[in-house]
Amino acid sequence: MTPRIEVIGSLNLDLVSTTARVPQGGETIITQSFSTGCGGKGANQAVACARLSRSQHDISSGSVIVSMAGAVGDDSFGGDLLKGLRDNGVDAASVLVRKGEKSGVAVIIVEEHSGENRILMSPGANFSLKPADFTDLPAPLPDIIILQLEIPLDTTLQILKTAQQKKIEVLLNPAPAQKLPNEAYLAITHLVVNESEASIVTGNEARDIDWTSNTAQHKTLLDLGARHVIITLGARGVCYLSKGKPIRTFAAQKVNVKDTTAAGDTFVGAYAVAIMLNRDRSETAMAKAIDWANQAAAKTVERPGAQSAIPWANELPPSNA
Ligand code: ATP
Repeated sequence: MTPRIEVIGSLNLDLVSTTARVPQGGETIITQSFSTGCGGKGANQAVACARLSRSQHDISSGSVIVSMAGAVGDDSFGGDLLKGLRDNGVDAASVLVRKGEKSGVAVIIVEEHSGENRILMSPGANFSLKPADFTDLPAPLPDIIILQLEIPLDTTLQILKTAQQKKIEVLLNPAPAQKLPNEAYLAITHLVVNESEASIVTGNEARDIDWTSNTAQHKTLLDLGARHVIITLGARGVCYLSKGKPIRTFAAQKVNVKDTTAAGDTFVGAYAVAIMLNRDRSETAMAKAIDWANQAAAKTVERPGAQSAIPWANELPPSNA
């Protein structure tokens, strides 16, 4: 049976202006460039799963079936967001179109010389997802659910509860980071966090934590109940923790870095695809999955853009090579 991944999360239209400098209050500046793109962590991760499980030459079938559940408004952005999913091989039938609501939008100002982003996120229809929408899940049930934290927290907590009742694996990427109630972690099979998210979820916001060696912090993450904890370390690679096992680190690939946008989302998608194609959870199999996700994320940083930078399966060696 072809494995099924369901991503439940946000869809946002990104409106990106690049400017020589950021305007002061009351000031208008003519920008250097403007572009739009499909985004939202949920949509990015769904696209990553779909691209990394099919060839760009035939998106109609892949080694994994990828669907997304979420909500957009009945505006033109909503149509663009649905098309963005379908054009990448994601089944968007469970994305609700909310009458009279606005789609989620991220207004992104990029300062040209520093590359620094300033982002205003308007969640719109993303925040219309209610816990009651997820007290059950329609058949066929997915083999894994991927979640982030860009929809209301009480809805995410309900999805975790339902997944636990139905014994479905869950991968949580807690971004943007916030503290979760401890019992939530019991429903999380795979926790994928970057360094700053790891600090926030453990309640230790010290900036100088070296996650590759700080065993006290590892213990905190594992004691919360997640079975496989992966901390992405940007240009330093990844570390992997599981209970009773020594920490494993994976160096980042040496690549020519163009734009790190969506590196984390690519990592999540690739890791999910790899663990769906090989259900073995031995240390060797987990190491292979992480190594493949590390390679996929490195490809993304070599290219400009967000979703458009995510590689397809045919651009990488097989995940179990
Ligand atoms: P983003 O928010 O930009 O999507 P993130 O902060 O969630 O990313 P990072 O830890 O920065 O996640 O990066 C995720 C993964 O991407 C890393 O673990 C690594 O595999 C890859 N990666 C990121 N930066 C680089 C780099 N400079 N060189 C090679 N690989 C990289």
